[in-house]
Amino acid sequence: MNESKLKQNHKSLFSEKNSLVGIYGIECESGWYTLIDDMCNELEKADPEKRMRLKQVKEKFGLLRTYVGIEDYDSSKKSDVDLLQKSWAITGKYENYSERVCEICGKPHKKGVRRVSKDSVWVKCFCDGCQNKWETIREERFKKIKERLKSRPKK
Ligand SMILES: [Zn+2]
Repeated sequence: MNESKLKQNHKSLFSEKNSLVGIYGIECESGWYTLIDDMCNELEKADPEKRMRLKQVKEKFGLLRTYVGIEDYDSSKKSDVDLLQKSWAITGKYENYSERVCEICGKPHKKGVRRVSKDSVWVKCFCDGCQNKWETIREERFKKIKERLKSRPKK
């Protein structure tokens, strides 16, 4: 599973280009993509008129966070309020699931794998092997950012 396949599978949910997920894409590691696919299937089942739109999908403080909007939402309509609450129930369920799935390799664990980094900076859901992998990935990303900043022309 990759990001473009996810978007292909759930065209209507991902149809809003002018949203954080439209601009930045899915902001988590690929181990959670299957989880996101399952979540999207449930959202679609709960929304036969296809009015739900994903606004942001990301990892935050070690958990999968998803923000959903309803097209032409009318807070005076009970059916719209119900639809929004259904979306919250589903995204909340997958937020809970994410605590037991490694964000890097996607392996499910019976017990939660949410953990703090060695330098106490991040909280993430990783299995033992992937925590070390992540420390390396993170160092590489920092190096790239530093190089980019260095190569920027000075004012
Ligand atoms: Zn892992």
